[in-house]
Amino acid sequence: MPLKTMRNIGIVAHIDAGKTTVTERILYYTGEIRKVGEVHDGAATMDFMKQEQERGITIASAAITSQWKGYQINIIDTPGHVDFMIEVERSLRVLDGVVAVFCGVNGVEPQSETVWNQAQKHHVPKIAFVNKMDQQGADFDNCVKMMRDHLDANPVRFQLPVFEGDNFTGLVDLIKGKAYLYHSGSLKEEEIPPAYLSRAAEARQELVEKLAEFDDELLEKYLGEENVPEEELVRVARHGVLNYLITPVFCGAAYKNIGVEPLLDAVLDYLPSPLDKGGIVGFDIVEKEKTHVRTPSPNDPFSALAFKIIHDPFVGQQTFVRIYSGKIKSGDELCNPRNGRDERVGRILRIHAQERLELQEASAGDIIALIGMKNTKTGDTLCDPDHPLLLEKIQVPESVISVKVSVDSQSERDRLATSLKKLGMEDPSFKFFTEEETKEVIISGMGELHLEIILDRLKSDFGVVAMAGEPSICYRETITKEAGADMRYVKQTGGKGQFAHCLIRLEPNPGNGFEFVDRVKGGAIPREYIPAVEKGVLDAMDKGVYAGFPVVDVRCVLLDGTSHEVDSSEMAFRIAGSMAFKEAFRKANPILLEPLMSLEINSPDDYLGDLMGDLSRRRGKISNLRRFRKGSQKITALVPLKEMFSYATTLRSLSSGRATFSMELLNYSPMPQDIQNKILGEKKKEACA
Ligand code: GDP
Repeated sequence: MPLKTMRNIGIVAHIDAGKTTVTERILYYTGEIRKVGEVHDGAATMDFMKQEQERGITIASAAITSQWKGYQINIIDTPGHVDFMIEVERSLRVLDGVVAVFCGVNGVEPQSETVWNQAQKHHVPKIAFVNKMDQQGADFDNCVKMMRDHLDANPVRFQLPVFEGDNFTGLVDLIKGKAYLYHSGSLKEEEIPPAYLSRAAEARQELVEKLAEFDDELLEKYLGEENVPEEELVRVARHGVLNYLITPVFCGAAYKNIGVEPLLDAVLDYLPSPLDKGGIVGFDIVEKEKTHVRTPSPNDPFSALAFKIIHDPFVGQQTFVRIYSGKIKSGDELCNPRNGRDERVGRILRIHAQERLELQEASAGDIIALIGMKNTKTGDTLCDPDHPLLLEKIQVPESVISVKVSVDSQSERDRLATSLKKLGMEDPSFKFFTEEETKEVIISGMGELHLEIILDRLKSDFGVVAMAGEPSICYRETITKEAGADMRYVKQTGGKGQFAHCLIRLEPNPGNGFEFVDRVKGGAIPREYIPAVEKGVLDAMDKGVYAGFPVVDVRCVLLDGTSHEVDSSEMAFRIAGSMAFKEAFRKANPILLEPLMSLEINSPDDYLGDLMGDLSRRRGKISNLRRFRKGSQKITALVPLKEMFSYATTLRSLSSGRATFSMELLNYSPMPQDIQNKILGEKKKEACA
């Protein structure tokens, strides 16, 4: 398959705009499935996990391959919920183009805006599909206007919807100058209906004008009132999409099977191929600052990113990878530079909606599933062992909330541990550990919903019924002034003693994470022990000093030290580093930080007063309020996560179920002293108990 005829796309939308229905219809028209399942019945193909495990076939998939007019289209699953930012992030990392689905009635909704911005951040070209044009109140032009007002987009109509009476029956293709009308399910190309002629001419002129803005040849023809051939418009528009200059807007009603084939044509015409996407940059694994570029060619050394892991009851663990360069065949050795472990490629699978195809080999540009990866997690790079490199990691959001989980028996405890390990491989934003003293298992994640889903999956996918305690917030510790420590670690017990001595200074480093600076001169501490000091510091930071929460935003300067020829060791310096850090930290005015969330609420006007009152009781600060559509506003606010437990329930009752919200971590911020004291008090009580 030449790379030019390959598309890796994702379909993104606000919940309920019709992402699942559009995907299903695409699979139907591309011949992947024979019958369209009703989304309402939970039978939709890309709808993940539970339903699919019940149905037991390959459709549990992170990517499905389909064919349209000789092109291969890999559809990468994107989550319907922005609560799972990491899911959105990782799919945006591996896809090349996006179809953004909007609801013709509601237009641009908060989550479509969020996902749009994320796609923008990842430089992913987009086309837009205004769905549900058959519904009462659907308004194509208004939707385009909302895209212009609320998104960083330059939307251009490439089609117009056609109605017969109140019925949505098809569309006018402005580039082809034809109408595509649907009569009892089948599509017919026809002349533009007379009632639409003048509107279509006007819209086409607008389209050509917009394209001429960035193409001089076209501009000349336009000014000379020459007729511009269809192919030229497509070529210029494609350039416009690939360079983020325009977003073509299409329309349809997936549920009524209207507009899906033209949308597929648009995917081929306007969205990038892996060649358009170009080379990818990775880091050298030894000289970490040095970079290597890999081009989308089978002849470059192999590089790929594992972006999703799924435990399939039939074939075992499937590791979905996007291949950026090179090729692999079954039996090849690959290297995982994160852990330095080798991985052997077992089987290579191409996932279709109803079957898995075993491939002999796979190469650059493609998305496939590997069987047999043992130590590869979501977000890992896989590469040619002779040409290792590290691709940019998928940004893993920090965990903000944790909960203690327990099970009934020892055998259950073992099963809990193995199941959590599997879940952790799939989802790096979820973490777990066992507290050494109490043996309690703690899981942490990005929000209440995230943890609920983990518990649910433990039960449904692994048969482990775990009891959960009350969720608690993951606070952080930091310092507010400089302080130092001069630490000697000396032990003389019979045989070989231990000796390490280091002098450090800690400085606040707000917003910049952890930095370690080595200022040791003249080998006062031998070079080989310096990483050990840093490790010791990291040990202490991990466990926390002040109240047992991880330490963030500190610069640690290693100033000086001494060593002993016989008694010094890495271990001794690691311990000394850890002790020095703790001592300096205590002197540096430590404080607690709490997760501050950025919250977006979309609510009908009637409830605004109540919602804002409630937010201010939650220490919320409203940063923006703007009209989103008629009768409805969008509130943007900053609120401490601590005050947001069970917010979904409150919002439902305050707005009679009509407002929606989404929330993500903005940063860790200092909190009022009285609240901090209370948390410290509780921690002390816990420790005594
Ligand atoms: P998702 O949450 O974005 O995946 O949306 P779904 O595909 O699940 O669709 C949400 C609801 O809208 C379902 O009940 C669909 O049947 C319905 N729906 C989807 N597309 C259309 C459409 O074109 N017209 C109408 N009338 N309903 C639609």
